[in-house]
Parts: sequence; structure tokens; C-alpha cells
Amino acid sequence: MEKRDYYEVLGVSKTASEKEVKKAYRKLAKQYHPDVNKEPDAESKFKEVQEAYEVLSDQSKRSAYDQYGHAGTEGFAGGSGGFGGFDPNNSPFDMGDIFSTFFGGGFSDFGFEGGNKRANSSRGRDLRYRIKMTFLDAMKGEEVEIKVDKEVVCKHCEGTGSDNMKVKTCETCKGSGRVQRVQQSILGRMAFVTECETCGGRGKVPDKECRVCGGEGIKVESEKVKIKIPAGAYDGMILRFRGSGSLNKSGVPGDLFIEVEVEPHENFERRENDIYSTQDIPVHTAVLGGDVSVDTIDGKVKLKIPSGTQSSTIFRIKEKGSPILGRASERGNHFVKIVVNIPKKLTREERKLWEGLAK
Ligand SMILES: [Zn+2]
Ligand SMILES: [Zn+2]
Repeated sequence: MEKRDYYEVLGVSKTASEKEVKKAYRKLAKQYHPDVNKEPDAESKFKEVQEAYEVLSDQSKRSAYDQYGHAGTEGFAGGSGGFGGFDPNNSPFDMGDIFSTFFGGGFSDFGFEGGNKRANSSRGRDLRYRIKMTFLDAMKGEEVEIKVDKEVVCKHCEGTGSDNMKVKTCETCKGSGRVQRVQQSILGRMAFVTECETCGGRGKVPDKECRVCGGEGIKVESEKVKIKIPAGAYDGMILRFRGSGSLNKSGVPGDLFIEVEVEPHENFERRENDIYSTQDIPVHTAVLGGDVSVDTIDGKVKLKIPSGTQSSTIFRIKEKGSPILGRASERGNHFVKIVVNIPKKLTREERKLWEGLAK
């Protein structure tokens, strides 16, 4: 799909100020937020708006975008939505946002810890939860429901913070949301512009403080969230659902991070996208050859053992390994190591037969 120009997405000019960008974003994010907007294309519009804002609200990303277009933002976390290579050892997995289809958001090199850095006042709080699952569920992928506590729009005042929904201009900042402070430093008097504390940068204060949220416009609620764990999820994997975290007072959401904990399996061991297991076979099968049934993550599979197979021989069963993340239909391989079972007890008849062989 051809990407739209970020300025066009937000409906602002190339010379738009930071404030204009933010204003346009807030309006569109509210309009297309999938919680409110049930139009079928709302989620993709919401994502598009989020992405445009992420780039245009950041000075360095914006100038890279101005110079090189979409290619200029590719290296930035969450910037492009394109796929990079997949390294299960170090790549947290970016799901885009919870409303997207699998793998819609693309990979990024944005770490779990990195989430902290992004949690500033321009966005809501990031949320972190951990999900534990069995090895086989992780292979198949699963939809799980979790309960999260997060700041959401106060329904009583519809986010205005005011009991009667009326707001008035903040007297401290005269509606600008910013105040100038003068500080004495070794370089002389310096002026700083900071966010107005009275109105939290909104420029407006409630006419009558909302009795449910105390004028904040947001309040913490428990919410059930459905999380899709992709097939092939690995232990320590981090899923990022953009825009599914808490709202800040301006209505801008943080992200939701889910860390996946995969329990080890008693037979299967995963290395990258391949699965390893061992399989006992009777000595006569090793000598004469034959079919054995091998457990894979798909269930039992028939494996042909050639005559004269030695213990510790490894056979590859093609495409019975882990589903490869981001490449829906591709699979790793299953490697099975053969252990030849030497009988420990023999019947009298068996003993005779072995003695016969020995001669
Ligand atoms: Zn103010
Ligand atoms: Zn309220």
C-alpha cells in the first residue's frame, strides 16, 4: 500500500508549528479512535494518524522525513511499518496496535526498557503486563484476555473535567497552556517556557470540577483487553500495542507492552525457528530399517528409518518446526535425534536369536 504524506494525513502545512501538529493530531486521534469510531477503516486511519504524529512531533524525525520522505524515518522505532529481519534473540516484536491484524505494525528495534523513555507528558502512561503460556500454545498462537488498569476518558464529564461539561479559559496562562518563567543563572536572566500547571497545558479549566474524576478528565478503570499472541511466540518476546496504554490529560494514549513467558516443554527444545527432540527406536528398526512415529508440535509424524541407522543420527523433518514470525505460512524444521534402544532384558528365545547372530 502506498503511504500517504504525513502532512496530508494530519491535514497541516509543511510549515506547521509543533502546536498545530499536536492540535491536528488530537482532533484526528479522538475522531478515529477505535473505541469510539466503529467505521471499518477507523483503525487503519487511527494508525496512520499515530504514525504521522510520531514523526512530525519529533524534530529530528521530522527533518529526516522532510529530507528523505518515508525512507528517512525507516530507521526510527515504529517509524515505517515495514519488516526488518527477524532475530529471535534480540528483536522485540512490534504489533503496531491492538486493533491491527497480526504483524500489521512491523518490527522495530525498540526495547521493553525503551518504553520508559517514551513515557513523557506528551503521551499517556505505558502499561506493562506479562502473559505466561505453554510451549504448544505459543506455537499455535492464542487469543488471551487480560485485565488492565488504565486511565480512560471520564464518562461522567466526557473528558472535559467539568461536571456541567463547560470549561473556561485558564487565567494563569490566559488559555495558551504555557507560562514563561524567568530564572537567574550564571549566564544572567534566562526565560523558560513551561507547561502551565494550573490547566496542565490544556489552556482550559473546568467550570465546575467533575465529581467523578476531580477535574482531570480521565480516570483509572479496569478494562478487559483481548491480546493476540502470534503463532511462534517465543519466551521473552515483547508485543507492543501502540495507543493501547493510558490516556494523558490531553487524551493522547501511551502504549501497552505484553511480555510473553513461554514454559519449557519436556520433549521439545526450540532453537531459533527449529524444534529439537530425541526419539527412541528399537534395535531391530535401527538394523533393518522401518517406520517410526515421531512427536512434533503438529502431533505424530511418520519417519522412515533407513537400515543401518546409528544411535545419535539426526534426521530432519521439513517444515514441522516453529511458525516463523512475520511470515505467516513458513515454518522452521524439526530435528530428531535417534537413540537406539538396546534391550536390557531378553527372553530365552531372544537370547538364542542374539547368540545365533553372534556366531
Ligand atoms: Zn493554564
Ligand atoms: Zn470527569
